[in-house]
Amino acid sequence: MNNIDSALSHFDRQQGSQDRGAPISFDAYLQRVVKDPEKGIRNIFQVFHDMVEHLVAPGVDEYAGDPESINFTDHDTSRLFVEGADSPFFADRLFSNRLVKLAENFRHGSLQNKIYIFVGPHGCGKSTFLDNLLAKLEQYANSEEGCTYETLWRLDRKILASFSEQESGKFLNRLSGLLDEYEFKQTDLIDAQQLMQGDEDYVEIPCPSHDSPLLMIPKEFRRAFIDDLFENDQAKWKIFTEKQYDWLFNEPPCTICNSLYQSLLERLKSPTKVLEMLFARPYRFNRRLGEGISVYNPGDRIIKRNVLDNNMLQNRIDSLLRDSNRVHYLFSNFAKTNNGVYALMDIKGHNVERLHELHNIISEGVHKVEYIEENVASLFLALMNPEDRVRLDEIPSLIDRIELINIPYVLDLRTEVEIYRNNFGRHIEDSFLPRVLHNFARIIISTRLSKDSPAMKEWIGDPEKYSSYCDSNLQLLKMEIYTGNIPEWLNEEDRKKLTAKCRRQIIAESETEGVDGFSGRDSIKIFRELYGSKAREGSLIDMKSLCSFFESREEWQEMIPDGFLDSLRRMYNYTILQEVKEALYYFNEEQIEKEIKNYLFAINFESGSQVVCPYTGDNLDVGEDLFTAIERCLVSSSSDTQTRLRFRKSTQKQYASQALTQELILAGRTLEETKLYHSLHERYVHYLKEKVLDPILKNDNFRRAIKDLEGENFRTYDKKVRDDVTFLITNLCEKFSYTRQGAREVALYLIDNKISDDFSSE
Ligand SMILES: [Zn+2]
Repeated sequence: MNNIDSALSHFDRQQGSQDRGAPISFDAYLQRVVKDPEKGIRNIFQVFHDMVEHLVAPGVDEYAGDPESINFTDHDTSRLFVEGADSPFFADRLFSNRLVKLAENFRHGSLQNKIYIFVGPHGCGKSTFLDNLLAKLEQYANSEEGCTYETLWRLDRKILASFSEQESGKFLNRLSGLLDEYEFKQTDLIDAQQLMQGDEDYVEIPCPSHDSPLLMIPKEFRRAFIDDLFENDQAKWKIFTEKQYDWLFNEPPCTICNSLYQSLLERLKSPTKVLEMLFARPYRFNRRLGEGISVYNPGDRIIKRNVLDNNMLQNRIDSLLRDSNRVHYLFSNFAKTNNGVYALMDIKGHNVERLHELHNIISEGVHKVEYIEENVASLFLALMNPEDRVRLDEIPSLIDRIELINIPYVLDLRTEVEIYRNNFGRHIEDSFLPRVLHNFARIIISTRLSKDSPAMKEWIGDPEKYSSYCDSNLQLLKMEIYTGNIPEWLNEEDRKKLTAKCRRQIIAESETEGVDGFSGRDSIKIFRELYGSKAREGSLIDMKSLCSFFESREEWQEMIPDGFLDSLRRMYNYTILQEVKEALYYFNEEQIEKEIKNYLFAINFESGSQVVCPYTGDNLDVGEDLFTAIERCLVSSSSDTQTRLRFRKSTQKQYASQALTQELILAGRTLEETKLYHSLHERYVHYLKEKVLDPILKNDNFRRAIKDLEGENFRTYDKKVRDDVTFLITNLCEKFSYTRQGAREVALYLIDNKISDDFSSE
């Protein structure tokens, strides 16, 4: 018994705490509006925006401060599409940027009176997208954070009755007349009797169109009303000047509310008294009941008589107002989603008819219900397959009311990998050498991108210069841009050419990509096959098995662009080469700094001079010995005297004209902060890294020691080799998240395939 009691009382408390649905007076509502105008005054477009803003964290720009940034940032949409969803939807960087932008446009009030059609191929997950989006919208709209208010009339029986005692008598007469004339429903009869007996203080009439209570102020007085309501502050200025609030001044109330208002005014003779019967209550969204959100599937039949009424309520209204011809409680299905979402899943079957039907409503915002005009301001959404686009041509007048938003296959490799992780579990990564899983995603995405990219060509020109780490169609580079990464291997000139305009052109190409190639379902299937056949305990999937897996099927190979796999392999080799170099490399930053500073000072003096460097305090013997030692690292170890001399001269010139006068003296920087110092430092480090592979490649023992690392024999190698091998493997694990086994495999792969030879011209 105790358990039952506590369960019930707990339940009661929880349920009770969720009940925020109690109506508040118009007065109390206005107080809320004044306190928080942005929340208090919003239509569905603004609510949609606020939800996106609430659930999607501000985008992360990996290159903050980049003057050429186009704000193509990383938005985390997991709270919107993944959390709590039956089947999650993964929005890639391109799509989430599109969606966030759309929401922003909604807030700014542009782009209304439109239908938003999301176009995507089979298997792109668009119905999951819409389901999850609407589920979150429903949740949000019903939460305190996302709550909007709708009109509720409370017709006070006593007040209305007191106006004319004799008229109640008339009502009774009329009621008996009705009984004679019609077969009066029993409930209605009871209802009417109750009304007369006074069991209820008032009759509640909700606005079927979910109008904002503010719309009840007649249009001609609304501007002045809002003006009086607010102080002359920023909020007021915003409301009066921004397009997003146009609806507040321009939208009429629904005909039912309008006629109710008029009738009440006639009887009560005072607008204030009328407004005392006006209440506000939270607009509850309920997709299953079609309130606030309605989603139509192509198979859902169209209801022939799209007119809804409520006899009981009509009778009550009539009896209270004693004038049955004034207020017609008559509305259509569209009213239920007014200020809500009306969505079509696919432009097919009955939904094609619906789209035809929507035509006037979208452009005019109004339609006829019997003889009454009904205003409809909804957010119209639809999904469509690319091949159904011809359907739209059948409605030419609708064309300029359509806003198409692409929802293609995932083109951003990080999102693609996230999908595998979600489907197969995070542990899948343990079966791959680092980077190989992402390369799987790259292969999948290569089939979705167009092979010809004018934007990339305009940017890079001849792709040949990057043949070491990129394919000839520059798809690998484009994938990096799509994922928000600017690769290190770009030369300085191309990095500079990556202007905002250039970025916009590249991102714009994504609008036409991802329509064919491996679908979302395909990629899951292929991954399952790879994982099932190649993932073994104690061994890792490497590039070799990844490539041979894709090469094993002709139909797959046909989809992958020619030469792509080779390029991918090369890029992989280049990357691990850098990793191994980085892992082996250690330097004494203090030493490098000293040498560069001394050099920069010494080059200003004749050979044979003895000077004290002011940056380091060192005594320097200026001469060839000092110069050659460092220039071999800065220029190249094989450079001749002429080349080095030229380098020295130009460096001296830069030091004197730019670093010293402009940066040190005028801008007050330190030597380390000058551009010249930076460029020399970079050159120096580059040189050291090049040299770093020498012990691995020139010593056979090194290879064997790697193999023997975990065994007894490792102790037999000499100390230098043991130290270097341990250093390499430990760093690979720490810096690039290899497992020890993976680190050994990748080091051996590098040695055995003589990878460094392929890039020796670097
Ligand atoms: Zn209304």
